[in-house]
Amino acid sequence: MNEILIQDTTDFFKEKFGNSPSKTVLSPGRINIIGEHIDYNDGYVLPAAIDKIICFAFKKNNSNTAIIQAIDLNESIVIDVTKEEILSEVVWTNYLRGVLFQLKLKGYEIGGFNCAFSSNIPTGSGLSSSAALECGFLFGINEMFNLGINSIDIALMGQKAEHWVGINCGIMDQFSSVMGLENKVLKIDCRTLDYTYHEANFVDYSLILFDSNVKHSLFTSEYNNRRIECNEGLSIIKENYPEINSFRDCDVNLLTSLKSKMTDNVYRRSLYAVKEIKRVIQACVALDNGDIETLGKLMFETHEGLSKDYEVSCAELDYLVDLAKVEEDVIGSRLMGGGFGGCTITLVKKGSENAIKGKFTKLYADQFGIELKIYDVKISNGTSLYKKN
Ligand code: ADP
Ligand code: MG
Repeated sequence: MNEILIQDTTDFFKEKFGNSPSKTVLSPGRINIIGEHIDYNDGYVLPAAIDKIICFAFKKNNSNTAIIQAIDLNESIVIDVTKEEILSEVVWTNYLRGVLFQLKLKGYEIGGFNCAFSSNIPTGSGLSSSAALECGFLFGINEMFNLGINSIDIALMGQKAEHWVGINCGIMDQFSSVMGLENKVLKIDCRTLDYTYHEANFVDYSLILFDSNVKHSLFTSEYNNRRIECNEGLSIIKENYPEINSFRDCDVNLLTSLKSKMTDNVYRRSLYAVKEIKRVIQACVALDNGDIETLGKLMFETHEGLSKDYEVSCAELDYLVDLAKVEEDVIGSRLMGGGFGGCTITLVKKGSENAIKGKFTKLYADQFGIELKIYDVKISNGTSLYKKN
């Protein structure tokens, strides 16, 4: 599927600009296997790059002008690269302007270029098309103008570009889009940015994302509430156990001993954070041992925690995970991302994919009158130059 996208992008570039691209860049979306809502709670995340990508074609044009075509939107922009960037009303252009802003801020000088890009990452479904956009664009500029920016700085500058757009994201999305490796997950320590790779060859299982196709408006307000509640939980822990600085150093027994000092909500949010941090560590051990069944169980436990204790699920996501629980050939499923809509990530026994997809589609439509969208994903390499075989 990606070969067609690459060919179409190249053809478009040739047609529009009259010559062949000099660099073709593939920049993936990402999934997160486990470790949800703990990036801001001093935890670890376990993301991976996937085989859904944005393909960019680039060539310098010996001017001071960047001409950039968003093929999927049939829109283009012209930017004078010597001028200061300001936010535009055309949202998609801001992710790219944000990258140019970061380059200028760090003193990199670039010239004009032509660029066309097209994607098969669904947008706004939690697969981080925005990180793929920022990081792929920056990666291509870095290649064209030999700027010598290393991979981690590409991720960090991509994150800053997104902050510039106005979205205060953590580092997971950009980091996994850039640093991903085929059949490996990244365990990222959100405190230090230390990272390790773990084998993620699911052998007998396929990864499927079921997109609930809903987005409840509670997301932003509840996200902020969770951050406040977790801070409160942590400060109560610190008051009573000054040697503990983080949920990471806390266990369930210790937390339970403080239950009477917390509101029920603060206790349950803290409980989720403590348990989820431990689950990520257990998930890495399971992956290292090739024990995919245990990974699946942990994913179900995460969903239970997100739904009952952290309360960031919704009826549609709970329904999809409940369907998964009763299927013998589904060994794990949970909501992925911030919650209140978006996708579940699900491990399905190979050979049963079509039967499960058909059944879930029908039952979901019967229950909610909403079409279930489905994405098959494989764990793949991070942002890279495409080299034709
Ligand atoms: P997510 O990152 O989860 O997909 P976001 O809302 O963070 O969702 O980012 C989606 C935005 O990124 C889109 O609204 C659009 O502005 C930009 N974007 C992503 N993919 C493309 C694309 N193929 N063409 C143009 N803009 C895109
Ligand atoms: Mg995004």
